[in-house]
Amino acid sequence: MIPVDAHRATVAALVPPPGTEDVPLTAAVGRVLASDVTAPIPLPPFTNSAMDGFAVRAAEATAEATLPVVADIPAGRTDSLTLTPGTAHRIMTGAMLPDGADAIVPVEATDSPRGASAPPATVTFTESATEGRFLRHAGSDVAAGDVALAAGTVVGPAQVGLASALGLATVPARTRPHVLVLSTGSELVAPGEPLPHGRIYESNSVMLAAAVTAAGATAEVLRFVPDDPAHLRRELGERLDADGPAPVDLVVTSGGVSAGAYEVVREALADRDFGEVEFVKVAMQPGMPQGAGHVLSPGGRRVPIVTLPGNPVSALVSFEVFLRPPLRAALGLPDRPSRTAELGSGIRSIPGKRQFVRARLTPEDRNRNESVIPVGEHGSHYLRWMASADCLIDIAPQVVALDPGTVVTVIPLAD
Ligand code: AMP
Ligand code: MG
Repeated sequence: MIPVDAHRATVAALVPPPGTEDVPLTAAVGRVLASDVTAPIPLPPFTNSAMDGFAVRAAEATAEATLPVVADIPAGRTDSLTLTPGTAHRIMTGAMLPDGADAIVPVEATDSPRGASAPPATVTFTESATEGRFLRHAGSDVAAGDVALAAGTVVGPAQVGLASALGLATVPARTRPHVLVLSTGSELVAPGEPLPHGRIYESNSVMLAAAVTAAGATAEVLRFVPDDPAHLRRELGERLDADGPAPVDLVVTSGGVSAGAYEVVREALADRDFGEVEFVKVAMQPGMPQGAGHVLSPGGRRVPIVTLPGNPVSALVSFEVFLRPPLRAALGLPDRPSRTAELGSGIRSIPGKRQFVRARLTPEDRNRNESVIPVGEHGSHYLRWMASADCLIDIAPQVVALDPGTVVTVIPLAD
């Protein structure tokens, strides 16, 4: 048996390094910037008014003074105007400041009615203007050439807003690994179909695909295959050689890797024309039988593959332990940090195996890191306990028993 960390390193080396792609802003939220975004234009692009009011020379627009209003500047007017001394221009928020003006007097500080459609012939000020007041200077938000968004930023609504204001239709984002999920087993029936006696509903495909997308990568589910190596080779080979929604960066299978008969993944990949995969026993529970390497498609593609055990709990725990961390790293996203908590009840553990025990952090302590209680039974087919756990307690191989109150390491399963 090999230690968990050795297999972790093998799997991490298989996850493809990130590339860069330009992503439209409408699809960019959640993506990680691959490089700095520099501003191609200043923001604002030109000096404009921060208020609806009058553009003036501040020295002329004193309280009680009256000036003729000789122009009207709505937002979007593009011709360059000059403010003749001794005059005022009516101006709207966002409209370009005329040359010569050095202040805005808001409409509220004049005798002009708010919302009048036509500009008045003259304007009388109730307050004196202040030079520089209510102006938004060109480049005061972002100067042209500034780094507006730094590499590594996770794009959210404000970031797409800024990119859009800079006139960018796309941002450079790290590519996301495209992961093909394949379940195996002659006993499997798709959910929604009638269940013959002796068969079970298939659960790993949708579960592992969800884990892939929760990690931030993209998932594609290949229809599960029966325990027939030729069938598996045909289905998987055809998909890898096709373009599909995206080229497959990584294949994740479940089932068919233990030591029994009908181990379809093992048998199919044992064929050296089709696979270079090392099958190993990892000193862990759940999840002992594992495999990792490459699958070789008939069309000559060599694609990384990670073969997980079939028991649903083993499959998901294996994903969390082996695949989520390198996927997050490839995506440039932080992973949920491990933390410590005090055991709320005692645990027995199998010597020689690292245990990942399904557990719950007590609700009131979620942020205070205090108490964690194992849920349900150990068996790797107990999906219900997996579904009610919010963390895994990570117990070192040599530990056989832990008393209540022991401080343990906990891997969160949710954000
Ligand atoms: P295997 O690793 O193929 O021997 O499968 C171990 C156990 O997990 C068996 O009880 C299988 O029926 C079950 N199993 C394997 N794959 C799936 C799956 N995709 N969905 C639900 N159960 C599965
Ligand atoms: Mg099986």
